[in-house]
Amino acid sequence: MPFLDIKSVDYAYNSGDDEYIQALRSVSLSIERGEFVALVGCNGSGKSTLARLCNGLILPDRGYVTVDGMSTSDKKSLYDIRKRIGVVFQNPDNQMVTSIVEDDVAFGPENLGLPPDEIRARVDWALNCVDMSAYAKSGPLRLSGGQKQRVAIAGVLALKPQMMILDEATGMLDPDGRAEVMRVVEKLNREENMAVLMITHFMEEAARADRIIILDHGRVVADGDKKLFETPDVFTRAGLDLPISVRLAQKLRARGLDVGCPIDIDSFVSSALSALEVQRGEVKSDEEKNSNGGGEV
Ligand code: ADP
Ligand code: MG
Repeated sequence: MPFLDIKSVDYAYNSGDDEYIQALRSVSLSIERGEFVALVGCNGSGKSTLARLCNGLILPDRGYVTVDGMSTSDKKSLYDIRKRIGVVFQNPDNQMVTSIVEDDVAFGPENLGLPPDEIRARVDWALNCVDMSAYAKSGPLRLSGGQKQRVAIAGVLALKPQMMILDEATGMLDPDGRAEVMRVVEKLNREENMAVLMITHFMEEAARADRIIILDHGRVVADGDKKLFETPDVFTRAGLDLPISVRLAQKLRARGLDVGCPIDIDSFVSSALSALEVQRGEVKSDEEKNSNGGGEV
């Protein structure tokens, strides 16, 4: 049984009188424990609606959403579902509810009614996970955007969820802040086996996930691993950019140099260098090796 299972879900917002906006259409997807999945799509494609459905903030009009086997439509399960899935939103300034970092991280566990020792242990652990222990006694005014988002992540972590949804959580950060948040999220996925659903419009971030899901006008139009970038049309048709490395590779291919489909700059550079060596005849391509080397004893 998948950890998160979304099956044939429709969802429409009532925008007054008899007006409805169909935000999701027949959406089915599932996420296993420990998976790192990116969800991409244009503005208005339904990403945030999908995030709200996952922890039962809204309920499907048709189909179902289950978390660890529990349906979000079952009111009695909502508390357990929200303990399992934590959500971090876009605006770091709206997420701190107290004026001291460690109090803020303690807010969730306090609301769970945990004993003080356990709360202390969770706060220390969560701040350590996001590399913010040194700022435990700071106020939000001293923090950068990336640091505030890391505190928001710590607040979610302190509830010990099994999955984290980041809804454009890096969207308002500068490049350093984005990199800090990505590093922390990747570490949590790797070391704590936390499932991650990273909603982002930065394709470089999406390319780092194990799996990428594309939403277009409320429908899932692609769901696959990094090989999706080998068919760039699925991204461009949904109005999305491609990672810069994939775009550079396309341009080189058009000029006769095949560098494959590198999904980040480092792999772009190394495939471009080896393709150049092959082209200059310094190194034989695999094809040449196979056709010449067959007769050796
Ligand atoms: P995304 O997060 O991909 O930008 P959303 O899930 O926020 O997309 O929105 C999907 C569609 O639902 C859009 O057409 C949007 O205008 C509409 N929508 C979102 N929230 C509401 C709301 N509270 N009331 C009415 N329409 C909404
Ligand atoms: Mg959104």
